[in-house]
Amino acid sequence: MNIDLHMHSSFSDGAFTPSELVALAVKQDVRVIAIADHDSVAGVEEATVAGAASGIEVIPAVELSVQFHEYQDVHLLGYGINCSDKIFLQSLDGFRLRREGRNDEIIGRVNDSLRAEGRKVLSRDSVLAFARDSIGRPHIARALLERGYADSVEDAFRRYLVPCNVPKSYWPMDEAIAEIHRIGGVAVLAHPTSISKDPVTLGSVIADLHESGLDGIEVYNNMGWPLEIEFLRRTATERGLLMTAGSDFHGIEEGLEIGKGREGMRFDSTLLVPLYERIQLVRND
Ligand code: AMP
Ligand code: ZN
Ligand code: FE
Ligand code: FE
Repeated sequence: MNIDLHMHSSFSDGAFTPSELVALAVKQDVRVIAIADHDSVAGVEEATVAGAASGIEVIPAVELSVQFHEYQDVHLLGYGINCSDKIFLQSLDGFRLRREGRNDEIIGRVNDSLRAEGRKVLSRDSVLAFARDSIGRPHIARALLERGYADSVEDAFRRYLVPCNVPKSYWPMDEAIAEIHRIGGVAVLAHPTSISKDPVTLGSVIADLHESGLDGIEVYNNMGWPLEIEFLRRTATERGLLMTAGSDFHGIEEGLEIGKGREGMRFDSTLLVPLYERIQLVRND
């Protein structure tokens, strides 16, 4: 049985609605999914309802942007969280509000570049047309693609969105882990090689995070090459960390499908029992 515990819906920077993601999961023979939107849990309910109707299990999830030591924008996944917790929802509101201000700042910078190139500037509305709840740079990427100013999402980031980036608000790592635990979930480091591809550095960051209460790492992810994934698997095994798996599907990247990582790697359901057990442990604490 196949699973995919990391995908984005149109409530953040994904192209598909939660119901459409469930339909894609059915098509790809993926039986358990988690929608892990950036700073939003608004898509979880729709996915759960659609999933119940088509035999797909939906694990409530979120993806937070976190600061840890000198690393900004470390992505932390929360699984099994209570998506109706008022305090948590209020915190997410604050992070999304900051994203809106940041979005305007980034559009301003991108427009400076476009003007310098003699191109037509983007309107705020042309970007907001792609956004529903949690706005992010991929929405600007899509507006650039639509104009033909970039050939792919990657190209839009390389040309405009990396050079014009403005920092978001970040959760301090200790607070993010504590908050996920408080609302009954487990904290998992997303696509770990985005922190560093150097095994010594990454190993030491994971060790520090484990000390800080991290429950697991996304061993099977869309960024990792086979050797990196093997390193992550070994690290998780040695430390007794949970292993999770997810495509980070947004529906806008070329050649990426739900339920598959690099080179068509499938994600196995044997990872689920330890995940469920760990969630139960947190809730009983
Ligand atoms: P934001 O949260 O607004 O900074 O947007 C971050 C999201 O943009 C990530 O979760 C990825 O989905 C996407 N992203 C970041 N860097 C790149 C890149 N170099 N190429 C393509 N997508 C990227
Ligand atoms: Zn994203
Ligand atoms: Fe991420
Ligand atoms: Fe993601």
